Amino acid sequence: MKIFYSDVHFQHNPSFEIFDGGVKVPNFEMPERAERILHALHQTSWAAIHNPDDFGLEPILAVHDAGYIDFLSSAYAEWQMIDTDTPYEKDALLPASFPPGKWRHIPKTLLGRAGYYMSDLSAPITAGTYPAALAAVNCALSAAEIVLAGEKSSFALSRPPGHHAGKANCGGYCYINNAAVAANWCSRHRKTALLDIDYHCGNGTQDIFYDRSDVLTISIHADPDDEYPYFCGYSDEMGTGNGTGYHRNFPLPSGTDNKHYLAALGQALELVNSFDAELLVISAGMDLYAGDPLGKFNVTRDGIRQIGAQISSLGLPCLIVMEGGYNNAALGENIVTLLETFENTPPA
Ligand SMILES: [Zn+2]
Repeated sequence: MKIFYSDVHFQHNPSFEIFDGGVKVPNFEMPERAERILHALHQTSWAAIHNPDDFGLEPILAVHDAGYIDFLSSAYAEWQMIDTDTPYEKDALLPASFPPGKWRHIPKTLLGRAGYYMSDLSAPITAGTYPAALAAVNCALSAAEIVLAGEKSSFALSRPPGHHAGKANCGGYCYINNAAVAANWCSRHRKTALLDIDYHCGNGTQDIFYDRSDVLTISIHADPDDEYPYFCGYSDEMGTGNGTGYHRNFPLPSGTDNKHYLAALGQALELVNSFDAELLVISAGMDLYAGDPLGKFNVTRDGIRQIGAQISSLGLPCLIVMEGGYNNAALGENIVTLLETFENTPPA
């Protein structure tokens, strides 16, 4: 299997995030995550690691707001130029004021714009955030290109992750929505569905495709009544306008085990079948694994294998894009377990 990875991700290494309750903690989304996965892939006989190509801004601007991407590209440099006696955290930009919904006026000040374009306090913008986010999306697009060209599957080892990034916001460790940009790219050539199996709702992906009928989006995740991102991911959110019926959420309770997860996945895959998808993009978060520090499911490694087997049994070309997963010790083996099920599936 061809895997796309760029070491530019090392440039994005925030030293902190602000957790629920105002607690300042080391950032869970750290370079070690990608390194653990890369190391595990190097131990296999089938993983071929490639550098991504550069696709430029066009595929990104096809799903993200231009003002937001402009903010993302310049925010850190502007942050360094602010002259103040206040002891700001200068190595990472975070605001403290957020609008209740998107208001008409985009603020002029940097901290005002930061609040406007950020949805929470877990996506600080550092010196290397923008180049790393570009490299991550180029990994997803490179993997998309080879699946479009006929490979049965490919894996984008994208970091930072993407599925919480909406049309015009970062949040939840995500800046550019790698899987959504790739799914939109694929949808120009094949009928495309996107399935998100990260423990958390793919709220950014939902935002991007919510009014579209040409890409089916499905997210299986922890119930937002209990879990981040809280405001999105309920089962009655099924799209709007032309997109009505083309988004589905499967919120699951804390403690969900293999059996109950696989039952929800079975329903999700029936929807992919009914849509007559020709290509499947998978937002692959491994925080669904039991014991993840940010998750509360009881899905085991054998459960991950069964999830992969169930998805790959569809026989669709699959682009697998890395999302979350914060049990660093287990992360590499979990991804290898998932990818092996695609590697071992004969072409449909
Ligand atoms: Zn997650």
